[in-house]
Amino acid sequence: MMLTSYTLEELHQKTLADQPKFRAKQLWQALYHHKATHVNDIHVWPAALRENFSQPNLFSSKIVKTLTEDKQVKLVIELHDQRRVETVLLVDKNDRKTACLSSQVGCAMGCTFCKTGTLGLTRNLEVGEIIEQFLFLQNNYGTLDNVVFMGMGEPTANLLAVLKTIRLLGDKESLHMSPRRFTISTCGITSGIRAIADANPQIGLAFSLVTANDEKRPIIMPSAKKNPLPELKSALLYYQQKGGRRITLEMALLPDYNMSKEDARKVAQFGEGLEYIANIIPWNPVAGLPYRSPTQEEIDQFSDWLEDFGVPATRRYRRASTIAGACGQLGEG
Ligand code: SF4
Repeated sequence: MMLTSYTLEELHQKTLADQPKFRAKQLWQALYHHKATHVNDIHVWPAALRENFSQPNLFSSKIVKTLTEDKQVKLVIELHDQRRVETVLLVDKNDRKTACLSSQVGCAMGCTFCKTGTLGLTRNLEVGEIIEQFLFLQNNYGTLDNVVFMGMGEPTANLLAVLKTIRLLGDKESLHMSPRRFTISTCGITSGIRAIADANPQIGLAFSLVTANDEKRPIIMPSAKKNPLPELKSALLYYQQKGGRRITLEMALLPDYNMSKEDARKVAQFGEGLEYIANIIPWNPVAGLPYRSPTQEEIDQFSDWLEDFGVPATRRYRRASTIAGACGQLGEG
């Protein structure tokens, strides 16, 4: 297992069992607070320990490409088996930094409007491979305010690793980040939503509704065949009953598919009884996919309809779209 996958206790037991416990804590502090990526960066260790440590490279992956657009950044990261994932830093107008992390190499869900969905699934990421994405961003761009699991992959399909990542970053000996600073985004896996609610309802939840029409949804999101909207709605209600927070309903806007007045009405119906906000995201162009981006008039018209039906909505502006780091574009390299 990778060093970056370990809890403090695991680190002690598996790599430093013959050393006093504080050595593992020093390693963690070097990793999480002092940008260490190699054992020689742990200056507080005696030279003999550094020389004999079994895993001199503390990281298993490396950055192979950095793309920037204004303050937004996309990193292409090569894993130990030469597979690649992408991770994105989003910076808002108040300079708040959000890490958008990947949870899988590729994705099995096959959403028809998403680049990653065209790749298929290669494998799950290990905890350390997710932590390293976070640390690459933190080490290069400073303290991160929030983390969203909205990169490549369906996070509920690798939920144990995602939850352990949240626990590791929340440990008071690492970065002590509250679960409220994390959001898991799912395309709508009923069992996954319930599992998040059971694990920790303080973790934020975003659900890619896209369309609230249960006949159209499976056509563009194959996972909807096994996860119909009424079941998803009861899982979302379960999350909120367990103490969960306001849910974000993500809506990639696809002209001619989900932007009619009737579509807006159905969103309002789906939202009844939920505490939610709809986040409308004009579809970002991906070569080879049979969609187009909506025009400003189409977006305004759909927003007006949502407002007429009482849907609380925010509009996400295209960030990082020219570096293919925006929603649905990851996987272009
Ligand atoms: Fe997978 Fe998310 Fe893309 Fe759907 S939108 S294919 S769940 S990465």
